[in-house]
Amino acid sequence: MVELEVTVELNTPLLLGSRKLGTVTESLKFLPGAMLRGALGRLLARECGHSPENHADCEFATIFRADAQPRFGPCYPAVSSFSFPFPATAQQCKYYPGFRDQDEEAHGIHDALIPLLAYEEVSKSQRVEVYRPHCPECEAQLEPVSGFYELFGDTYWQPKPRLTRLSRTAINRRRRVAAEELLYTLEMLSEQMSGPPDSQRRTPSVPTRLRGFIWAVDDSQAERLQALLTRVTHLGGSTSRGLGRVTITAEPRWETSPADPPNAAQQLAEAANNLDFERVDAPEGTLTHRVAQFNAELLKALEHYPDYQPPAGRLFFTVDCLSDVIWLNRGLPTALLPEQFAGAQRVRAFSLPQKVSGFSGATGLMRTMQLAIGRGSVFVYCLNNATPEAVQAMLGTLQKAEREGVGRDKERGYGWVQICSPFHLEVKPK
Ligand SMILES: [Zn+2]
Ligand SMILES: [Zn+2]
Repeated sequence: MVELEVTVELNTPLLLGSRKLGTVTESLKFLPGAMLRGALGRLLARECGHSPENHADCEFATIFRADAQPRFGPCYPAVSSFSFPFPATAQQCKYYPGFRDQDEEAHGIHDALIPLLAYEEVSKSQRVEVYRPHCPECEAQLEPVSGFYELFGDTYWQPKPRLTRLSRTAINRRRRVAAEELLYTLEMLSEQMSGPPDSQRRTPSVPTRLRGFIWAVDDSQAERLQALLTRVTHLGGSTSRGLGRVTITAEPRWETSPADPPNAAQQLAEAANNLDFERVDAPEGTLTHRVAQFNAELLKALEHYPDYQPPAGRLFFTVDCLSDVIWLNRGLPTALLPEQFAGAQRVRAFSLPQKVSGFSGATGLMRTMQLAIGRGSVFVYCLNNATPEAVQAMLGTLQKAEREGVGRDKERGYGWVQICSPFHLEVKPK
């Protein structure tokens, strides 16, 4: 597999209509993988001129009729690197929202998952004070955070794409008048957004950039996609009116990800049995390191309850949905990942149900809306008997999930997940 880093820069406003509220069509604030995939498919189909069922020996066939297709991930707004949807467990002050490093007035964003899990576990066997977090600065209520975050240097940053509105009047052709009920408003993603701060902490406007990944099957497919994507110059709706003009670049990721240590399963099993994850030795960024850090932080949170002794031999992990996930349970769409995963038991779900739709490549018709697990959803699992063999099998399944995605329609960008997102460690407001 070859990972391509994709950057979509907006030259004119982008029309990404999602849902209609009255006469206003709301815009998405990111580019779904399916939309970029569709734009490339249409470009290639136009060039070869084949009808949908008859692509053979053409560029379209090599990409979209291959046994192993590339996965087109979503592109999210970002000012410096790549951004990710906030987990459903992220919280911020109701009155002064945002990261402190980004906005001096803000009261910070933190993740409530680990303290909440600790409280819930202890409260099953002891009477303890209810965990009811409020803003540490002003005691105000907390609220969930929507949108995206990215790493900016050693701090977090919340990229904020701007929306512009375009009001139009549809003319009633028979009567040649603008009937009042034909007024409509289109929301669009602006081609400018607030950029990263300069040395004086000013945030100048920069071109809006949406960034994401495409996972190609091999080098030759990656090279082909790299060349073809630069030829996609328009995205979204109303391109004939000059909207959606974009510049797309794709670069293979040069950095190789650090590898898990060969004795990862042994180390994690021992740590689980000794209730000591601090000594797990694995390179930062590896699955082993993330799992160890998550469990270490959870044990630390449990220490806030001195009368409670956590049982040994358990290993927790989260599955964090970085894109929407389409999962079927006995053939039916669901907003939950399964009760059993990687040999572990689901113990908590923070699900953000989402309705998704798309165009069927085969028929060109709109697919029906279906239920999905929304991006930002978080599922917590516990492996109860963490033997080295069980941990080994668990790590194998989790690595595959991160590498290949989970669920259906993965080539359209669904099912992109991360295990134990480092954001969960941010239990103090930042
Ligand atoms: Zn063709
Ligand atoms: Zn506050």
